[in-house]
Amino acid sequence: MISVALDGPAGAGKSTIAKEAARRLGFLHVDTGALYRAIGLDVLRRGEDPADPAQVLPRLEETGITLRFTAQGQRIFLRGEDVSEAIREPRASMAASSVSAMPEVRRFLLELQRDLARKNDVIMDGRDIGTVVLPGADVKIFLTAAPEARAMRRYKELVEKGTQADYDTVLREVKERDYNDSHRAAAPLRQAEDAWLCDTTELTLEGSIQAVVDHVRERTQR
Ligand code: C5P
Repeated sequence: MISVALDGPAGAGKSTIAKEAARRLGFLHVDTGALYRAIGLDVLRRGEDPADPAQVLPRLEETGITLRFTAQGQRIFLRGEDVSEAIREPRASMAASSVSAMPEVRRFLLELQRDLARKNDVIMDGRDIGTVVLPGADVKIFLTAAPEARAMRRYKELVEKGTQADYDTVLREVKERDYNDSHRAAAPLRQAEDAWLCDTTELTLEGSIQAVVDHVRERTQR
């Protein structure tokens, strides 16, 4: 089995790029951010605080997260309910950032992620895939872009979906999440030493996808 670890900050286009690159390569795309989002969403729906371990951890086992992989990509379920769209709400992003700082939450999700990589050729996207989840990945890529470019992409995405959004707020949230993700004690966002740095600030989406596919093919002879 071949595993590709694709890490980077929020809004670098990881998921979109990983999804299409995986399709072209015939790999499974595993979006690990969805796991943290689902836990965050579950806490919010209970009316509890995602930043408070005492409200998050005791109920972790009851979360009942399952993933299903379809031709259209990954779907995520909370106790049988498809929450693939609901986890994209901005409130779920912030909740994900909070719960993901808890080592117990990360440990809880570790085996699920490793198991998928053991059984499938994967492109797994996240923050700590190359450093913690799959340190032995065949290919490691660190995908990044300037915060302003990432905020603009996310802003357009929200507007296209009909969600009300404000660019300055999105930019502030991107920077806040960058800070949270890279300063937390548990598995902070950082480039693995052996990862290839791919900066997409000046690249089109197609250019970024092709760069990733080419890099994986070069490294794996696929
Ligand atoms: O990638 P996405 O924006 O969906 O991730 C949501 C949040 O989950 C991130 O802000 C990050 O805090 C957390 N995350 C993480 N480790 C991963 C994937 C996501 O901590 N492997």
